Amino acid sequence: MLRTHSCGELRLEHVQTKVKLAGWVQRVRNKGGLIWVDLRDRYGVTQLIFEEGSTDKALLEKAAQLGREFVIQAEGTVIERTSKNDKIPTGSIEIKVDSLNVLNPAKVPPFIIEDETDGGDDLRMKYRYLDLRRGVVREKLQLRHRMMQETRKYMDAANFIEVETPVLIKSTPEGARDFVVPSRVNPGEFYALPQSPQTFKQLLMVSGFDRYFQIVKCFRDEDLRADRQPEFTQIDCEMSFVEQEDILSTFEGLTRHLFREVKGIELEEVQRMTFADAMKFYGNDKPDLRFDMKFVELNELAQGKGFGIFDAAELVVGICAKGAAEYTRKQLDALTDWVKRPQIGAKGLVYVKYNADGSLKSTVDKFYSSEDLQSWADAFGAEPGDLMLVLSGDAKTVRKQLSELRLKMGEELGLRDRTVFKPLWVVDFPLFEWDEETQRYHAMHHPFTSPKKEDIALLESDPGAVRANAYDLVINGVEIGGGSIRIHDRPTQQLMFKHLGFSEEEAQKQFGFLMEAFEYGAPPHGGIAFGFDRLCAIFGGSDSIRDYIAFPKNNSGRDVMIDSPSTIAQDQLEELSIRVQLKK
Ligand code: ASP
Repeated sequence: MLRTHSCGELRLEHVQTKVKLAGWVQRVRNKGGLIWVDLRDRYGVTQLIFEEGSTDKALLEKAAQLGREFVIQAEGTVIERTSKNDKIPTGSIEIKVDSLNVLNPAKVPPFIIEDETDGGDDLRMKYRYLDLRRGVVREKLQLRHRMMQETRKYMDAANFIEVETPVLIKSTPEGARDFVVPSRVNPGEFYALPQSPQTFKQLLMVSGFDRYFQIVKCFRDEDLRADRQPEFTQIDCEMSFVEQEDILSTFEGLTRHLFREVKGIELEEVQRMTFADAMKFYGNDKPDLRFDMKFVELNELAQGKGFGIFDAAELVVGICAKGAAEYTRKQLDALTDWVKRPQIGAKGLVYVKYNADGSLKSTVDKFYSSEDLQSWADAFGAEPGDLMLVLSGDAKTVRKQLSELRLKMGEELGLRDRTVFKPLWVVDFPLFEWDEETQRYHAMHHPFTSPKKEDIALLESDPGAVRANAYDLVINGVEIGGGSIRIHDRPTQQLMFKHLGFSEEEAQKQFGFLMEAFEYGAPPHGGIAFGFDRLCAIFGGSDSIRDYIAFPKNNSGRDVMIDSPSTIAQDQLEELSIRVQLKK
């Protein structure tokens, strides 16, 4: 071994021990006759000291030649530091070096490899392997590792079997575009990369596996955002002979286990909310329950008083921001501008201040008496000191806008504490979602989701009103996972495809294998998948999943480190029988 200890290991109790360490030079401080080197490895940083007088001259000179990120091996004795550093675990000791071996010199790195760095995002992505040397970055992957191990522990203990499913498959509709791979031996034919292992895990249930899980890569060709990557990881699961309740309790158990083992947090009860209530009270199917600020509908109180904008609106709805009556004119104008930005798209913002002295002041005093405004305040359960914010318009649009405003107010009032975790099951999702663009229904979850028995009659008459046995786990306003009880018989699956606008031939061509399997004794089954990267980000208190992925892609789906995607050689194309003709 090139070392006796790691760089994170030595403490006062090791004083006088002879040790050998190896690692990277994080920093050199050269005070002439005195040189300190911070030596880093995966486990931490240990200070080396070279001192004129007690260190021989050649060694001192050698130390003076060290540059950032040189890989070295140092032998010496652990001594107590005169001035201790309580910020690092090894801060009470240092190593008095008596032999130094440069294992590999290094070019000057493009940015400083310390927790505080001068490297911008792009540069750090290009040299991700250097960025990963930084403790703060490495810790995120260590958290991911812990989460993975704990997930496997829990799933194994609960009798789930980890089964790998293929990566070269054909389209599994999860609502995104497929990434495709050309087949050389089948010219003109393509595999699709799995958007999820959905059909395979269902087939495993038909095979009798009963409880399956997999920590698995999925691929979706979508527009990228901070919390999306073209390839991402799911904790994917499926269970047989279960009802919705069994799945919710099993995965509530997993969530609880992870919080307990990884964060030392005992999770409170996971609330439940129907999709309909989530939309009505939060304008959103993934409400952030760290704060209240529920929507209050004001149609009855606010319409018919001569205020044309409210009178013409399908919905007048608002929120009450506790303690925000002190917002200045300037702050309120800024909020108004904020809701009017094209990203939100509201026409304007009506506010009512419930002043500390009990008086009410609004932007619509012309139309509403103070009794009117008091009735609004009562509806909101507002108290002196609160600020009511009201939007109006077409119901669907205005709910969405108010949902954004609610989150913004939560942020401004400091109610979205990253150390607080509010998990929630959203249940009873609609089976279908109307798509304006294509003018047809899409499966809200995916086409294998079963409708609620009591709603099956509505399939023909009012498809939009059919509810599904589908559920999402939401934590702090982030969708962590979703799943459903599946269809497990051919006629229902066929009916579903029909409603989704598939012709019989199309359905047969794409999913004939699954429907056929359903005819060979498919057990009732259901499952769920958690977005593993997101779960890690939530645990780490971050908005971006990218930090939790060793080698992520940038906003244009590019890996700038290996420079991919890239063109391929002409003979590779020939072999694949592909001619590339880019559209202008
Ligand atoms: N395959 C689904 C998804 O990726 C999860 C599930 O229904 O189990 O969202």
